[in-house]
Formats: sequence, C-alpha cells, structure tokens
Amino acid sequence: MANVSLRHIYKIYDGGVNAVKDCNIEIEDKEFVVLVGPSGCGKSTTLRMVAGLEDISSGDLMIDGVRMNDVPPKDRDIAMVFQNYALYPHMTVYENMAFGLKIRKYDKAEIDKRVREAARILDIEELLERKPKALSGGQRQRVAVGRAIVRQPKVFLFDEPLSNLDAKLRVQMRAEISGLHHRLQATMIYVTHDQVEALTMADKIVVMKLGIVQQIGTPMELYNEPDNKFVAGFIGSPPMNFMTVKVEGNGSDICINEGSFYLKVTERQAEFLKQYIGQNVTFGIRPEDVSFTNLKEAGKTIDGKISVVEPLGSETNVFLTTPSHQITGRIEPTVSVSVGDEISLIPNMEKAKFFNLEDEKAIR
Ligand code: ADP
Repeated sequence: MANVSLRHIYKIYDGGVNAVKDCNIEIEDKEFVVLVGPSGCGKSTTLRMVAGLEDISSGDLMIDGVRMNDVPPKDRDIAMVFQNYALYPHMTVYENMAFGLKIRKYDKAEIDKRVREAARILDIEELLERKPKALSGGQRQRVAVGRAIVRQPKVFLFDEPLSNLDAKLRVQMRAEISGLHHRLQATMIYVTHDQVEALTMADKIVVMKLGIVQQIGTPMELYNEPDNKFVAGFIGSPPMNFMTVKVEGNGSDICINEGSFYLKVTERQAEFLKQYIGQNVTFGIRPEDVSFTNLKEAGKTIDGKISVVEPLGSETNVFLTTPSHQITGRIEPTVSVSVGDEISLIPNMEKAKFFNLEDEKAIR
C-alpha cells in the first residue's frame, strides 16, 4: 500500500518566491499521477517536496497516513528518477544499480537478485558490465529506472525523465514506463511539461500554473470538461481556438456574435449562456471539432481564407484566417485544400466550450 496525500502544501523559497500555493492532491495506491504544466509552474518543486529534497514551508505531506514533512529522504521509502539520469560515471551499470542497496547494507545475494531481476525487466542484462559513457541515451535512462526499481520503493518519482531523449525514443520509453507501471503495480508520480506524455501515461493528471493546481482529473475529463481556459488551452494539440464573442438573443434563442460571424448555440448551452446576454465571453473550439465546407451559411459557418496547410500524414492541420482571427482546423488527409482557398468552417457546437472573460472559469 502506498497512498500519498498533499494537504495545503506551500513552498516559499528563500528570497520570497512562492513556488507552490495551497496544493492539495490525493494519490491513491498504485495510481500513476502526472503533474503537468509550463516551465516554472512549480511541478518539480512539488515532486522534490514529496522526495524530501526540499523543505515544505507549510501543509502536510502524508504517505500511508504518516506525516512525512520531517522524515529524511532516505527513510521515506521512495525512489526518484531524474531528468539527467545522475548515473555514477566510474561505476558499471551493475554497480550503479547496486549502489543504493549497498549503502543500505543489503546482503550481496539479495542485491544480485534484485539487480538481475531489474535488468531483466528493463532488457539491459547484456549491459551490466558497461560504464554509462558506453550507453545510448535510452539505455542510460533504463539504468536510471533500474536503480529505482531495485529499491522496491513504495512510491516512484519521475522528474521529466524523457526530456533528454529524441522524439522517437521518447514515444518508446513512454510506453515502457506505462508497461512498467502495470507490471510493478506501484504508485508513481511523474512530472512533465509535455501534455502528450500526461494524456498518454496518466491515470490522473494534475495541471499546474504559477504554483497553483488548476484541475485534477483523468485525461478524458480534462480534455472533455476543462475547468478553465488555461486547462482547455494546455491539454490538446494543436490547442483549442479561443475567440471573444458577445452573447445575444432573447429567450432560449441564443447566438454568439464575434463581429465577422455569429453562431447559434445548442439548447443546452442556451440554458447557461442566457444569463450572459449582452456580455462578452470566450468561445472555445478544438481543431478536431470543426469541419469545412464551400457553402457559407449565416449562423452556422465561420468564413475565411486558408493561410497555412500542414499535412501530417494521418491528418492535416489547416489555418483559416478570418477578419479578426486565425483558427486551426484538423481535417482528413483525403480532403484537398490549398493556401488561398476561400472556405468556411463549421464548428461542431455540441463540442464548443465557453469561459468567463474575467476569471476564465468554464461556463457550463
Ligand atoms: P517547474 O518544475 O514547473 O518548471 P519549478 O518547481 O522548478 O518549476 O519552479 C517553480 C518556481 O520556483 C519558479 O519560479 C522557479 O524560478 C522557482 N524556484 C525553483 N527553485 C528555486 C530555488 N532554489 N530558489 C528560488 N526559487 C526557485
């Protein structure tokens, strides 16, 4: 069992930087939780506080119900994998993996058993006698993970472990770490700035911005029901399109007017938008939630000119320039479009999102 609970955690660095503010996260036993957000949002600081590498300014960190704030890192029963791998260059792979157990005074036979088992799981058995400099980036990453596995910790912590790898290897290691999680059935906390890693690996994602948790949920919850404009824009690629629009209408007949186009909203949306009649709100639509047509239709289409076409093989991203915006749409690669085409875009209004202009919270 290993559940981790962060309760009203704050981190104020010397010099007054308030890096983490009132952070509350409940991590269940065996859960894979990803902390994600742009650089500087406080995700590494949060992870380092769980590891015991940073003091907690206030709040409680609990592991299995026991307060850990003042427990030294080595007694927390956690193992951390760092971005730079932090391998000892003068030691072989075997020695690197054995080192943590050796200083904890495990007997030789037990160390040998654990190192060989971890090497087998990670498929690095034939590398055990090599030094780190004779390994590729991906192999070094595996050794760093192996060093954590041999400890058989209650909780694994990963700090951007894949960011030094090339794109292809990242995809492969992503799947390997997910596989490892299923196999080890361990609690894992993983930090990344990459929303694709978060979506593909996490049971639960914690989105952070400026030291504040923005939303916690499953990947599909965050994608389908973002609590605010930041989460809506951060999760999903290419990002959601945002436009400021005025809510107009009477009774249940409600439109959003952007100036160069207006769109009729659905009945469900009219229910919560009617209290905004006469006011501006942010309208959000994902690139994958639009289609294209040659037929303009007032109240249904956004008309413009194609400025960029990006074929990706399995799909094509199209940038439509309207009088006041550039809107991204994603289409099937079989649809033929060219730069300069006058075309109209039909947002799937069922999928549209709305956000308050002031506090950027979702209106729903
Ligand atoms: P992230 O991991 O999301 O990129 P960090 O947790 O590293 O962000 O940093 C969060 C904030 O705390 C940043 O503004 C950063 O500059 C600041 N910070 C990080 N470490 C220190 C430190 N040792 N002293 C002062 N400020 C720090």
